[in-house]
Amino acid sequence: MDAVKDTDPEIYELIKQEERRQRDKIRLIASENYVSAAVLQATGSVLTNKYSEGYPGRRYYEGQQVIDQVEALAVERAMELFGAEHVNVQPYSGSPANLAVYLAFLSPGDVILGMALPHGGHLTHGAPVSISGKYFRAQSYTLNRETGLIDYQQILEKARQYRPKIIIAGHSAYPRIIDFEQFRRIADEVGALFMVDMAHFAGLVAGGAHPSPLPWADVVTTTTHKSLRGPRGAIIMCRREYAAAIDKAVFPGLQGGPHNNTTAAMAVAFKEAATPEFADYARQIVNNSRALAEVLAKRDFQLITGGSDNHLLLIDLTNKEITGKTAAKALDRAGIVVNYNAVPFDTRKPGNPSGIRVGTAALTSRGFKEREMFQVGEWINAVVAEPENERLIEEIAADVASFCRDFPPPGIDC
Ligand code: PLP
Repeated sequence: MDAVKDTDPEIYELIKQEERRQRDKIRLIASENYVSAAVLQATGSVLTNKYSEGYPGRRYYEGQQVIDQVEALAVERAMELFGAEHVNVQPYSGSPANLAVYLAFLSPGDVILGMALPHGGHLTHGAPVSISGKYFRAQSYTLNRETGLIDYQQILEKARQYRPKIIIAGHSAYPRIIDFEQFRRIADEVGALFMVDMAHFAGLVAGGAHPSPLPWADVVTTTTHKSLRGPRGAIIMCRREYAAAIDKAVFPGLQGGPHNNTTAAMAVAFKEAATPEFADYARQIVNNSRALAEVLAKRDFQLITGGSDNHLLLIDLTNKEITGKTAAKALDRAGIVVNYNAVPFDTRKPGNPSGIRVGTAALTSRGFKEREMFQVGEWINAVVAEPENERLIEEIAADVASFCRDFPPPGIDC
């Protein structure tokens, strides 16, 4: 960091501040993590200096002796890790990866069917404000009102009614495992392509703590920076027969030159994710999520679906007489970082919904186990009970910071 310090002390100081924030806070944003020092170094490498439009062996610029090997390694490792027939590692992030799939298979006005945004779907699954909802006729499925679970009968009925070209499974805020086989059956019945966006739970799949969608889906997209613990980016996996369409959609359809520094960091992350330690990590993420669910349920928090099978919990705070936003702000002041989130059938507006979402991938990376999650749950309970008690909040923030010092996160040595 010396060069940044010399050239740009302002940015240097901000990076240091962010390092301290990540070190001293309990980070429960379900889509975030701490990457390893190796992933960080590859991300910050000279590979950022190279242009390489095209694919290994088929580039539009010379000088690809090294880059071709980097990309080939990343592809090979991803194929191995997930058992994929074909992988494209070039998408800049999760949103462009999903768009590339639509570009490969859809024309404007075609029908897609995905999980509704307020029920845990992602913007790119057809939300009206997203290009996926503007350029395509997006239909959405909702969760069961009583159980909070995916309603496969409803999906089947909507698929029969709207005849989508693509059916999308995957979510940003659903605390349970998806039955991919049921989706496959529905897609087959209506002749739709079955796409899974496993951005949130890809690390669990890699570590064997969540069923893989690969045997069932035609196309699987994932970001690489959430539970998978890689750099910010995404990959698309598909059956061999769709490889050419996907590759053409990513480049030249949607993107220009790939971010080779990110590709290298992905390769490192895939290597890490193939280790037995990562399998332990994935299992511990789920154990931690369940431990947090247990303590919160004991404190009368209303967990959507009653618990968790993955890395996240969705909590309806209505019975606590506090909104999601007020709770998230108070928790942040106490050093516990979460996001406010709509709950299924929320009667409040998205800007200040009824719930919060919490995830355990980042804390698990710094070594938190069940015991620590019980403590985190007690702090959440205390803050939510008295969100305006600034003295209490200050005390908790100090306790959180000193607690965190015993769990130094990977990649940060300030
Ligand atoms: N898909 C899902 C399920 C997500 O949760 C997200 C982001 O949170 C994305 C796609 C988009 O990823 P990105 O923010 O990298 O564009």
